[in-house]
Amino acid sequence: MPIEKIWLDKYQEFGGCCAYCGTPLLVGVDSFMCGQLDHLVPTKRGGPDTPENKVLACFVCNNLKLDFDPSREAASNKEEMVAAARVFIFKRRAEKAKNLLEYQEELRNRVGR
Ligand SMILES: [Zn+2]
Repeated sequence: MPIEKIWLDKYQEFGGCCAYCGTPLLVGVDSFMCGQLDHLVPTKRGGPDTPENKVLACFVCNNLKLDFDPSREAASNKEEMVAAARVFIFKRRAEKAKNLLEYQEELRNRVGR
C-alpha cells in the first residue's frame, strides 16, 4: 500500500510526534498504530477537511480532545490553537488519572475484603 502524502506531510510537520503530548509515533508498531490525523477545528464545528486543519495526534489525545474547538479560545493561528487544545486535553487527562486512581483503590478494597 502506498504511503499517503498527507501522512508524510504531517509526520514531517510534527516531527513524527503527537502535536498535543509529544509522544513519538514512529518508534514501533504500537505507537505507529496509535497515530491519527485530528481535525484541529472539528468538522462537526465547521472546521474544513483540509490538510491545514489536520494535525498528527496519538489515539489518546484525539480521544480526549472530543469535539473541542480551539478556534473559540481566542487563538489566532494554528500554533495557538494546538496550545489551547493541549490545555483542554491535559485537563481531561488529569480527570482520567483521577479515575484510574479510583479504580485502583476500589480494586485494592475488593481484594482486601
Ligand atoms: Zn498525544
